[in-house]
Amino acid sequence: AERMAPVAALVRDVPDFPEPGVLFRDITPVLADAEAFTVVATELAALVGVADIVAGVEARGFLIGSAVAVVAGVGVVPVRKAGKLPRVAASRRYALEYGEATLELPEGVVTSGNRVFVVDDVLATGGTAGAACALLRDVGAEVTGFGALVELRALGGRDRLVGDVAVHSLLTY
Ligand code: 5GP
Repeated sequence: AERMAPVAALVRDVPDFPEPGVLFRDITPVLADAEAFTVVATELAALVGVADIVAGVEARGFLIGSAVAVVAGVGVVPVRKAGKLPRVAASRRYALEYGEATLELPEGVVTSGNRVFVVDDVLATGGTAGAACALLRDVGAEVTGFGALVELRALGGRDRLVGDVAVHSLLTY
């Protein structure tokens, strides 16, 4: 939409990060701009719908997810990288481009019957989003959707998640 043009202008392209040949989309300047951050939070909050809590994926998903939750009038739960939580309700390993990683959900926050909207900054291959949704379902929650600020279409995340969760993104590359 028209509201997204000033947001898109703030996404910074960083060639060869985290490794040669990869074009990293740096969204830090978007969050640092009050108007752009408000647009992002408002647009994603409009997708929260019937969800009663937002899950933000470490680490930039914490920042965006928190803002989305406040605008939507719901709470937020962090989906964390392995080893950070004192008590873990569920844990999921997933594949990275090279190697693997683990995401964890804190104990006693999301319970059976909760409806959860998952937020992250970027959807790339979909591995992270898929693991986050799986974690939430492990504790009996219903995932109502996944929303990202940026979607990297060529990496196929949307196609991987299709049939699993409703995927939303504000900017597509
Ligand atoms: P995926 O699991 O979909 O391949 O990768 C998505 C995860 O990696 C997200 O948590 C996101 O923060 C990070 N990520 C992958 N590529 C980029 C990128 O170009 N820019 C940013 N900001 N994050 C990325």
